[in-house]
Amino acid sequence: MSIEEMSPDIKSMSIEELRHLMEDKGAPAFRAKQLFSWIHGRQACSYAEMSDLPAKLREELAASHPLVTAKLVDRQISRLDGTQKFLFEMPDGCLVESVFMRYRFGNSVCISSQVGCRMGCSFCASTLHGLVRSLSASEMLEQIYAILRTTGESVSHVVVMGMGEPLDNYENLIRFLRLVTCPEGMHLSQRSVTVSTCGIVPNMYRLAREGLRITLALSLHAATDTRRRQIMPIANRYPIRELMEACRAYFDATGRQITFEYSLIRDVNDSAADARGLAKLARPLQAHINLIPVNPVRERGFSHPDNAHVRAFKKELENHGVNVSIRRALGTDIEGACGQLRNRYVDAKRQQTTQ
Ligand code: SAH
Repeated sequence: MSIEEMSPDIKSMSIEELRHLMEDKGAPAFRAKQLFSWIHGRQACSYAEMSDLPAKLREELAASHPLVTAKLVDRQISRLDGTQKFLFEMPDGCLVESVFMRYRFGNSVCISSQVGCRMGCSFCASTLHGLVRSLSASEMLEQIYAILRTTGESVSHVVVMGMGEPLDNYENLIRFLRLVTCPEGMHLSQRSVTVSTCGIVPNMYRLAREGLRITLALSLHAATDTRRRQIMPIANRYPIRELMEACRAYFDATGRQITFEYSLIRDVNDSAADARGLAKLARPLQAHINLIPVNPVRERGFSHPDNAHVRAFKKELENHGVNVSIRRALGTDIEGACGQLRNRYVDAKRQQTTQ
């Protein structure tokens, strides 16, 4: 049975599904909303906290529907800018990375959508050991809830840009997006939630039809198919032309400006011709370009261009009329690209057990 066919855990359920559950338990329907607001509005991590629910119902639920919680196993706090990196353990022992960041516009959390990844991008640490499994909606939410509980801070933005490919975990992602934006839950504004994809075209179209006005970021990283295929295996399935058509459909359906992410890799995709090619793709869509000097991953051997070169690349794009920003380097003292914190932790554990 696939994850999608299994009945979701209680923290992944919509209010409607909770209503059915209450019916099964012989409890009145209004309990569903109460339960939902404890789980998602107040981020309760045990039934014991839910003081206005009858004790008997709480006991029954604790036995039949345990609450998924993320256990904190490592936390690193940057002394430079307050960025915090978290490593959580899920109920089955899987390790998941999340990041808390402060911006002028508010606090943002970057969450993982899968444990590992099967997309195989050549510069990315998350995919080094392949895909272990997809995360449930509750496990995506728990990364945020656990950060709220641990830091006592508020969170206004969420980006699904940690480990994994969100559109390779479509059903759970949609559940997560509906829950995190639900008025009775955390009630994040849809436009404050960003999903980043390497470009799984059919699911970009599906997402466009969901009626969610979230921000879509496309990891483009190359302006030609030949170059893109060298660094991103997914480019063998979907050429750039099809990606651009899917972006157009998303923009037309949601009115949301698309972001192109572009990780700058020295001597691979950082020439002036690359910038011009990229501008040509961005202009018709009015896409915003986010440049990310590639984060060197020990196992990968890529390096990023120097700051002057990054600025020149940006200028070239601007000269061609596109809106571009350079991703601010946060938490450089607790350095680590996506997946690196987990890889280091797993390596250290392995060493401990072999010593
Ligand atoms: N799978 C999704 C989301 C996860 S990665 C995607 O591909 O978009 C989030 C972003 O970080 C992607 O743009 C990804 O290509 C980029 N990225 C991964 N490893 C990186 C590295 N070492 N340096 C810079 N960016 C990286």
